Amino acid sequence: MERQFNAEIESLKLGEGETFHGEGILAVTKALLQSGVSYVGGYQGAPVSHLLDVMVQARDYMNELGVHVEACTNEASAAAMLGASINYPARGAVTWKSIVGTNVASDALTYLSSAGVQGGALIVVGEDYGEGASVAQERTHAVAMKSSLWMLDPRPNLATIAHLVECGFELSEASNTPVIMDLRIRTCHVHGSFVTKANRAPALSTRNLQADAARFDYEHIAHPPATFRQEKLKSSVRLPAARRYIRERQLNELFAGSEAGVGIICQGGLYNNLLRALQLIGLADAFGQCCIPMLVLNVVYPLVPEEITGFCSGKAAVLVLEEGQPEFIEQEIATILRRAVEEPGMEGLAQTRLHGKDLLIMAGEYTAEVIVHGLLGFLAKHAPQLDIASGTRWCEAVDAVRARAAGLLGAPLPPRPPNFCVGCPERPVFAAIKLVERDIGKRHIAADIGCHSFATFAPFSLGNSILGYGMSLASSAGVAPMLAGRSLAIMGDGGFWHNGFLSGVASNQLNGGDAVLLIMKNGYTSATGTQELVSSPHEESAELIQEKSTVRSERTIENTLRGAGVTWLRNVYTYRVADMAKTLKEAFTTAAPGLKVIVAEGECQLERQRRIRPILARLLGSGQRVVRTRFGVDDDTCSGDHSCIRLSGCPSLTLKASTDPLKVDPVAHVNHSCVGCGLCGEVAHAAVLCPSFYRAEIVQNPNAWDRYLARLRAMVIGWLQPA
Ligand code: SF4
Ligand code: SF4
Repeated sequence: MERQFNAEIESLKLGEGETFHGEGILAVTKALLQSGVSYVGGYQGAPVSHLLDVMVQARDYMNELGVHVEACTNEASAAAMLGASINYPARGAVTWKSIVGTNVASDALTYLSSAGVQGGALIVVGEDYGEGASVAQERTHAVAMKSSLWMLDPRPNLATIAHLVECGFELSEASNTPVIMDLRIRTCHVHGSFVTKANRAPALSTRNLQADAARFDYEHIAHPPATFRQEKLKSSVRLPAARRYIRERQLNELFAGSEAGVGIICQGGLYNNLLRALQLIGLADAFGQCCIPMLVLNVVYPLVPEEITGFCSGKAAVLVLEEGQPEFIEQEIATILRRAVEEPGMEGLAQTRLHGKDLLIMAGEYTAEVIVHGLLGFLAKHAPQLDIASGTRWCEAVDAVRARAAGLLGAPLPPRPPNFCVGCPERPVFAAIKLVERDIGKRHIAADIGCHSFATFAPFSLGNSILGYGMSLASSAGVAPMLAGRSLAIMGDGGFWHNGFLSGVASNQLNGGDAVLLIMKNGYTSATGTQELVSSPHEESAELIQEKSTVRSERTIENTLRGAGVTWLRNVYTYRVADMAKTLKEAFTTAAPGLKVIVAEGECQLERQRRIRPILARLLGSGQRVVRTRFGVDDDTCSGDHSCIRLSGCPSLTLKASTDPLKVDPVAHVNHSCVGCGLCGEVAHAAVLCPSFYRAEIVQNPNAWDRYLARLRAMVIGWLQPA
């Protein structure tokens, strides 16, 4: 029931000499097929989810080509898949969100990089860094360096991206080393076109099977004593081979410019922002013509010393643009230059001033504005002959707009954090927790990764820590024994299968923990794009009934928990706020020993709406009766204290001016986006709020009985209303 990618799948089938139009991440997907990839795996996450989502939906076409596609249960299993390329000449690609996914995968990556590969191994990571990011901020570069994995950071241009995918496989094979393709958020989502090649059916594939398993060779096993030799091979053989390939194939791009006395070295992924900044200063046009020479590093690790010294030679100063911290590239360039001046004929390099983090921010995204500031400082110092006045004026204009906005507001702009979808099944659970807190006081809440982390924002403001995907229960293991009241760990079903079962539940059972675990069972990995899980509902559950188990699978979370020895186990429908509050209170106060697990059941509303929309359209189209539920607030009854909004947070629940002149405050109002989940009525009931809420049924294609009832009701209401 995920989003459909029919158009994207068609674009994967383009042949020789045709033109692909679309997003960067889809260009990568197409380029994998052009490169003859044998197998693809991964774990979804922004900004690279599309790669796997499209490939999974294109399974029929992948089968035609003989490409195996695997939706892995976490990044570690995806990384381990690349083990196929150690012994076999098969090209493989895996994908995930970084840095978080890379952390999960790093054990397998360490072993993979030690053993080395025969077939090209490409790890496509979505570098979730900067203003659009959704995870803790760190760079993947450090992982590449510590594991001796080469790292591509392509210039955001579809032809370059597609070319580098193919070169990535070749680089991997030329140096027997896995290659990371680091795709920034902007690179994944950049739109453009490139001329395609025909897809290559892989030599070793699901359609072209190898008769025998690979011969035994201890050198392919990352195990002592082979690991000692492998560690040496990384720097003595694989690194020189990689540098040779990078140089010969000119993977890094040199853009000449008339101002030969200065230069800029930038990570490939920053090129578009750099060009925009230079354009704002008046030193470049929108087509890439620029007077400052640039060395664009499409390969950020390893650097090629000859390319660095060649670019810096004869320059008074060079600026390094490197996003994030610490400044690995700048430090390596400094080392390369310092070593080079000792060589005959290279003494002139001692005169080249190296700038980078001294002129630019250490941490955070390098937006065009950040880069403009850095460039102005650099150029004022080392290229005073250039007219950079337009850049200064632009910065002043931006500052003036900000100052004016702040003046008009009279206060800093309030943040607009993300929120649960309208009618989300997870919202009622947090309303219930708030109600329970009124009775038993505040409890330590270990939050997790997933939609439920939105509860850390107002109006709920619930959660004390987040330690990673599926790590909530594990993260409460230290704090729970030191607190008088039982702590609560919350995770989604996505987190449960990703990591939570082993890291949390199994560990709790081993150590006799006494925590309360609440699992949001909405049926999908909702936060990453509603991909399916091992316990996702089967297709036949496409009925319109909402209050039912979302799971029609025997591979249930409940069976798994029972198998692990959990005995205190409750399953509560999330929209039943009073039941949820009662169960939570029982879990917090019961004398029963061991882990208390509440499975909070309610299908992801986003996915439910996607599921039922075509069904409703079909019913309406065939003239059948359809009933939709909506909630509303009676203006006359609402007192305007807004308790309902504080306990719900649904975007459909808003305010409007009261028509009663005696009411000063605006009254609550349910707008047209309400999906009738029922939470409003439940909260009003469970919290003993007020009788303002009403439930209405919207009947389309009414039958004779509906019409009769409507007439009868109108008549009775007419009698009761004063003339
Ligand atoms: S995607 Fe689903 S689970 Fe996530 S906030 Fe929306 S309705 Fe809730
Ligand atoms: S019933 Fe209330 S909580 Fe549910 S969608 Fe409508 S306004 Fe939102």
